[in-house]
Amino acid sequence: MKETIKQLASYVPPTPTEMIAQQYGLKRVAKLSANENPYGTSPKVAAAVIDAVQQGSGNWYPDGNATELREMIAQKLGVKAENIVFGCGLDEIITLVSRVFLEAGDEILTAEPTFSEYGLNAQIEGATIKSVPIDSQSGANDLNAFLNSITPNTKMIWLCNPNNPTGGYNETAALRDFMTQVPKDVLVLIDEAYIDFVRSAQPASALPLLEEFDNVAVLRTFSKIYGLAGYRVGYIIADDQRVRYLQTVRLPYNLNTLSQVAALAAFADQEFVEQVAAKNAKERDQWEKFLKQHHIFYYPSQANFIYFKVPDADQLAERFLENGYQIRTGFAADWLRVTIGLPNDNLAMQQIMADFLN
Ligand SMILES: *Cc1c(COP(=O)(O)O)cnc(C)c1O
Repeated sequence: MKETIKQLASYVPPTPTEMIAQQYGLKRVAKLSANENPYGTSPKVAAAVIDAVQQGSGNWYPDGNATELREMIAQKLGVKAENIVFGCGLDEIITLVSRVFLEAGDEILTAEPTFSEYGLNAQIEGATIKSVPIDSQSGANDLNAFLNSITPNTKMIWLCNPNNPTGGYNETAALRDFMTQVPKDVLVLIDEAYIDFVRSAQPASALPLLEEFDNVAVLRTFSKIYGLAGYRVGYIIADDQRVRYLQTVRLPYNLNTLSQVAALAAFADQEFVEQVAAKNAKERDQWEKFLKQHHIFYYPSQANFIYFKVPDADQLAERFLENGYQIRTGFAADWLRVTIGLPNDNLAMQQIMADFLN
């Protein structure tokens, strides 16, 4: 038994909406707690999956290299196909990266607050976490503070960009400048789970840095803008040598057949992605306008969620729940994260919130 694991608490997923509906006597509960896509999935996904099921190829192992998906992504992103490693969700990639590159006593840097999986997986490997507060005005990673926190023990830096839960975004030029100052033996992992929601910079991605720095990696998922959270597909793009190590440890068939089919169909439908990004941006503006009007402190978001500070946050979350809206609590006191929902749900939530505040 690893001693480190005894002291850790597992990730607590949101309560299933069916249970909430029953408990509160509601017909419908909108799940706006995990940044899933309220617009669903490209309709091409269901068609492709049904077709694959009807072909009945479940007796065969999946393609362990996810060849077709790999090539389609490589071509669109302008990276080498062999530099991609797939995971059963980006969660698995975070676990894999930690397992391969961290040893007991190593140190990682993560923002505070940020996605909790980076820290959890580092602790499982016996590494220690050094937290770097996010920029208190923008909610983005404070890159100078990260640089000042590097020690000889630092092995990895996790940058979630845009950052979950704050929604703050760092531009590629700033990340490039940052990379020139990071020691070459420190791996910088840029988690771009929400990159397609960014509107403030085009193109928004740090992908060009892959050609300039060996010690940078970019991570993506199909769970958010592609609306494929239920199918579990994520990936990392990294340098030749690190990819070799990751492939050695990765389970040979971690992406099942239907996940590959679904991801291929979803990725081919970039029109769906653009539509979701446009609708989300409009609703995001509307949320920010509402919060500003009510003098609620929030971070300007470039993602599909918004993070704000209200007194009696838990009571407000409960009020939302009573009305069929499940949001994310459990961050710092007084802070809530709302996934940006469908237009009618956003309006309804803002009404509930306005009533609560008055
Ligand atoms: C949702 C999320 C993930 C996990 O994605 P999966 O592919 O569903 O495992 C990773 N990183 C961040 C920042 C996320 O918000």
